[in-house]
Amino acid sequence: MVTCAFCSANFETGPGDVLLVCPYCGTAQTQEGAKFKDHYMIRVHFDQHTAQTTLLDWCSKQLGAPQDLPIAAHFVKYELIFYPFWISRVDAHTTYKGLGRDANFYDEWPQRRGAYKRIDFFYKPESGQFTRRHEINIPGIETIDEDIKNFPIPSRAKEYFSHAHAEEYDGKVLHSKIGEEEAKKKAHQTAFDKQTALVLDEVDKIESRNDNIDVGETFLIHVPVWELTYRYGKKKYKASVAAATGYVIESKYPRSMAFRAMGIGFGLIMLLIGIVLIAAAYQFNILPGGGYVGGSLFSVIGIALLYKGVSRKEAKEEI
Ligand SMILES: [Zn+2]
Repeated sequence: MVTCAFCSANFETGPGDVLLVCPYCGTAQTQEGAKFKDHYMIRVHFDQHTAQTTLLDWCSKQLGAPQDLPIAAHFVKYELIFYPFWISRVDAHTTYKGLGRDANFYDEWPQRRGAYKRIDFFYKPESGQFTRRHEINIPGIETIDEDIKNFPIPSRAKEYFSHAHAEEYDGKVLHSKIGEEEAKKKAHQTAFDKQTALVLDEVDKIESRNDNIDVGETFLIHVPVWELTYRYGKKKYKASVAAATGYVIESKYPRSMAFRAMGIGFGLIMLLIGIVLIAAAYQFNILPGGGYVGGSLFSVIGIALLYKGVSRKEAKEEI
């Protein structure tokens, strides 16, 4: 329990919460009660009803989803969560020296242009520099779902945090488990790693480097996500939809019986082909190499299809 330094209300915090948002007056503050001013939000553009319709529309277009999904699905849970993210503008300048791989080509084949009898690979010294401005985004809660952690935040559309707007949708505003200083440190490290990746595109080995990394404007932004649960038949499915854009961040959806039956059918055929190929390779030494490899491949795909068809596990689409 903490007392708000601005409206004196008491409110709950969890373990590790560092930057707090008072659920009564909406003021962002440190645990010591210092006000944090650079607090922004993305506004809700998809209300509960629109988010639900968008989700079902998306799900019904997925491979194998039952046709009656939009009519037969019933929402049993819905909650608007404002997730905290830290966004930093980082200016990075890196100069580097390293070794790049190169090759000499000798003796082109007369009949085949571009093909050589002998190729010598060697390392040669290279140097260069990269100047980049990165927008680094660090989640305020490290344990949040990977899909929510990585979905694109429309940070250009940011506005100052409005407690009234969050309340209008009965939104739950989560505290951040990392503070400004830690967020800046992480942004620094992420920018360093991005620069490293740029350099490694140019050279295979970095021999020396010099980095000038400046973490500039850093702000806290709360991003609204609808956490939805719907029932279809006897099962419940969970989904997350971005409340600003209607983007389906993650969703589980049912597969129709017809689709699963088809999967089982194909699975059996593949498995059979696989077994025949392996048996042929083993018994009669027909295509020994290809037979084993191809046979195993068909068998594995067959078993995977069978498993997908038989299992009652809901499908999850990677977006
Ligand atoms: Zn307050």
